[in-house]
Order: sequence, then structure tokens, then C-alpha cells
Amino acid sequence: MAALPVSFIQVTDITRITPRTARVTFDADRIDDSVGRTPDQQVKLCFPRPGQRTPVLPEQNDDATGWYQAFLAIPESERPWMRSFTIRRRRPGTNTLEIDFVLHGDTGPAASWAGSAGPGSRLGMVGPSSLYSAPVSLTESIANSDWLLLAGDETALPAIATLLEALPERSRALAFIEVADAAERQDLGTAADATVNWLYRDGTSAGRSDKLIDAVREAEFLPGRPFAWLAGESGAVRALRRHLVDNRGLDKRSIDFSGYWRFRMTQDDAPTAEDMAEAQERLAAFQASADSRQG
Ligand SMILES: Cc1cc2nc3c(=O)[nH]c(=O)nc-3n(C[C@H](O)[C@H](O)[C@H](O)COP(=O)(O)OP(=O)(O)OC[C@H]3O[C@@H](n4cnc5c(N)ncnc54)[C@H](O)[C@@H]3O)c2cc1C
Repeated sequence: MAALPVSFIQVTDITRITPRTARVTFDADRIDDSVGRTPDQQVKLCFPRPGQRTPVLPEQNDDATGWYQAFLAIPESERPWMRSFTIRRRRPGTNTLEIDFVLHGDTGPAASWAGSAGPGSRLGMVGPSSLYSAPVSLTESIANSDWLLLAGDETALPAIATLLEALPERSRALAFIEVADAAERQDLGTAADATVNWLYRDGTSAGRSDKLIDAVREAEFLPGRPFAWLAGESGAVRALRRHLVDNRGLDKRSIDFSGYWRFRMTQDDAPTAEDMAEAQERLAAFQASADSRQG
């Protein structure tokens, strides 16, 4: 089993890029060359418990399973909260990273931290690592399709932005992004022939909204075979995937999907039966893709 890249990251700047999005700039103690080179890079951030300035993390360990067991062995009152985030950007040639936090309220440790952190605040960062990141190879899948469908809410916006930035000229994409209101809209760069459809709720944090699902259901798709990338609230992602398979005839292998958060549940809550079924499917897709690469 490969080692997990673990480092401490320190805040150097925080900017409200929209009323509900904090872009946090961090300097990392150490960082792998591969960080920031590809789109949709996921990390797990470790947030300090009350009374701690720095989260308690196990020593670096060459064995990923061993590191995680040591993490779980930290007494619960001291063990950091762990939450998943996307690297929005790495400044070339530096250890400086930007991560966009959705400020969805004071209900979770990650959003509360982002609402009150300042320069000098420290977090732990685990990854990015192929040990837990998206199992479907996006580059490969896009190469085998005619166009890319991207759909997600504001938590998926950082990943969608990196995907659009990575698309080559002459590739085609259709994106659907649901956010609270027009003030949350961001400028997204791409060399591709891409249309971005912004969907606005009534100014509220994401809940169980149908805006994204309805927009994709009603959309006129581009000609040819799409590859779909879906992320956001788990129930919405499930509904979108069902629609693409049942009504649009997409092969399940042409869909990369990920529930990024669960309505009225924290990331610490136990997985539901639907979460477990999804995890199995993602594992099967990963295995199938690894097998086909080996020939
Ligand atoms: C691979 C991956 C990449 C991600 N990338 C990003 C990213 O770059 N930026 C980002 O902001 N998020 C991202 N997320 C989503 C983020 O991890 C979750 O929103 C997470 O639950 C936030 O943790 P928390 O401590 O704030 O809330 P939790 O303690 O997990 O939840 C507390 C409460 O808040 C609710 N809640 C959680 N998130 C939201 C939300 N967005 N809107 C409304 N209610 C919410 C929950 O339902 C729960 O009731 C990503 C998730 C994954 C799996």
C-alpha cells in the first residue's frame, strides 16, 4: 500500500470571492510535484478541535492503512474533523494553494472554520492521493466521448472550474451549475467550446433543490456521445445519474459521479444503504477501468 501524503498547511490570505465563498490561500509545509497539475484534485482537510491551534495528526507513515489507523486511534475529543475539498489552484513553482470554501452556515466544522479563520490558522492536509480520489479516469473517458457534461452545485464549482480550465481547444462541454443566487456566479476560463448554464436558487444555501435536476432533464444535449461528470448533494447526484441512464441512455461507465455532501447529515455520519451501494458501483467502475488499462 502506498504512503499517504500528509502535510500541515497555513493560511496566508482569505478573500470573499462571492458573498458565500471564501477563497483561502495556504502555504503547505511540503507538497508533491503532481499537486495542481491535473484537474479535480481532492484532498482531505483536518480541522482542529476547540482549544487546539493546530490539529493533532499522526507522524508521517509509509503505510496508508497504518496512518489512518493511527489517526483513528487519536482520542475522539482530540481527533481532527476530516472533510473533503478540491484544490482550486496551485501557484506554479510554489507551495501555495487555493481552496474555495462554501460558507453554508455555522452547522459544520469546515464551514464554521472558514467563516472565522485568519492568516496563521493551520489545518492538516491529506492527499491528493489515488488511494481515495475519483476512480474513473477522466482524461481517458473524455478522449472516448464527443463532449463533456458537467453538473453540480457550489461545492462542485471548484472542481468544475479546474475541469473547464483543463479542456483542450476544440473539445465541447455543457455545464450546469446551481448556486444560491446571481451574486455567486464566477468567471470560468476555458479554451473549449463550452456553454455554462447558471441556475439560481432563491438566495438560500443548498438544500433539497430541484433546479439542477430540472435543468439537465430539460436540456437539449449536444450531438454525439457525452461523458458526464456529476457532483453535489448526494440525492441530487443520484437523481441526475438515474435520469442520464434511464432517459438519456448513457452507459454507466460514461458517468463519473460523486455525492459531495448529504442533506441534513454530516460527513461523519455513518453511510446510508444508498451510500454503500454507490461506493460499490464506484469501486466496480474503478476495477473495470484498471482491468481495461492492463489489457
Ligand atoms: C471530493 C469532494 C470535494 C469537495 N470539494 C469541496 C470544495 O472544494 N469546496 C466546498 O466548499 N465543499 C467541497 N466539498 C463538500 C464538503 O466536503 C461538504 O460540504 C462538507 O459537508 C462540509 O463540511 P462541514 O463541516 O462544513 O459540514 P458537515 O459537518 O459535513 O455538515 C453539517 C451540516 O451542514 C450541511 N451541509 C454540508 N455542506 C453543505 C452545503 N454545501 N450546503 C448546505 N448545507 C451543507 C449538512 O447537510 C449538515 O446538515 C467536497 C466534497 C467532496 C466529497
